[in-house]
Amino acid sequence: MVRTDRIGGHRAAYEKNRKRIFASQNTCALCGYPVDFSLKAPNPMSAVVDHIIPVAKGGHPSDIANLQLAHWTCNRQKSDKLFNNDENMKKNKKVIGNRNLPQSKDWTSYRFEG
Ligand SMILES: [Zn+2]
Repeated sequence: MVRTDRIGGHRAAYEKNRKRIFASQNTCALCGYPVDFSLKAPNPMSAVVDHIIPVAKGGHPSDIANLQLAHWTCNRQKSDKLFNNDENMKKNKKVIGNRNLPQSKDWTSYRFEG
């Protein structure tokens, strides 16, 4: 029951803030070009409200501070990039972790010798 109420609350706040963004913004926050509100999905240039920090990444689902106007296609490309970066970050972290161990060891002994 509590869970359902919470989701319902977010949905109501999201709808309210979505209308506020549609009423107050007219350019895509991702590419900077105007958004044509007469275009409707599935048109790639139709207006969508984008989560600045995706909900999947811990962003607020309905806070207006985390919402911005975007084209559907820009929003889509952004989330694709985010997930690709995530994969790269995981790989890089592993590589950096393996390289850091001997490096910090050398640095310590260098300091002792100096
Ligand atoms: Zn755009």
